[in-house]
Amino acid sequence: MSKYLGYFEVKEALSNGGCPVCQLEAQTADTAIDTLLWESVNDVPTRHRLNAARGYCRPHAEKMVRNGAALGVSILMGGVLRTVSEILSNATFHGSPGLAMRQKLPGFNHRGSPATAALVKTLSPQTECPVCALQYAAGARYLQTLIEFFIGEDALVNDYRRSDGLCLPHFQQALGFITDEATFNALIDAQLHIWQQLIQQLDEFVRKNDYRFQSEKTGQEGDAWQRALVAVSGNRL
Ligand SMILES: [Zn+2]
Ligand SMILES: [Zn+2]
Repeated sequence: MSKYLGYFEVKEALSNGGCPVCQLEAQTADTAIDTLLWESVNDVPTRHRLNAARGYCRPHAEKMVRNGAALGVSILMGGVLRTVSEILSNATFHGSPGLAMRQKLPGFNHRGSPATAALVKTLSPQTECPVCALQYAAGARYLQTLIEFFIGEDALVNDYRRSDGLCLPHFQQALGFITDEATFNALIDAQLHIWQQLIQQLDEFVRKNDYRFQSEKTGQEGDAWQRALVAVSGNRL
């Protein structure tokens, strides 16, 4: 039964190009933002969590700018701004004798002034961005599904070998779900196969960049540099 919760989504994501889990996480975030804007704007625990997180992380805040979002965002951001305004109204300066003198010492500004440190800390997120939290939880479930069905009946290993594979951060996370050696060996082998192909394409791109070979037509290696950026860093947001 657990297979049907994510198996087909993972299988489809593997055929779309790019890191399958980055892609599924981005879809999860997108749906979460819609749900939040259309259904949860007036939900008290949702608002409390958002106020405690001091709003959304920057990439998710950028994703809030979408059609029909103005009213919901106005209500949500009004709440966050009221929260931080209240903190500011109660803020006090924790000065001490000699502080102004110490501030002139080299390196002081990098550490930040102790007089305002408490306020800086209170204004910082007290909890994770709610969309990040949902996205990462979903990503972990999809990775678990990928590993659970990597080999054996209806194995995903062949879909995986034909795909662009997991990005390096998700690959590391996937390793954490492996408990048997057969899955370990199959995943390592598939990942090496994917990376070796990509390395060959990058080398080919560099080779054709040489003026002596510039008349040769560009093949699959044309966008290898962009796929390599995703393979190394992911594109989850
Ligand atoms: Zn990824
Ligand atoms: Zn976020």
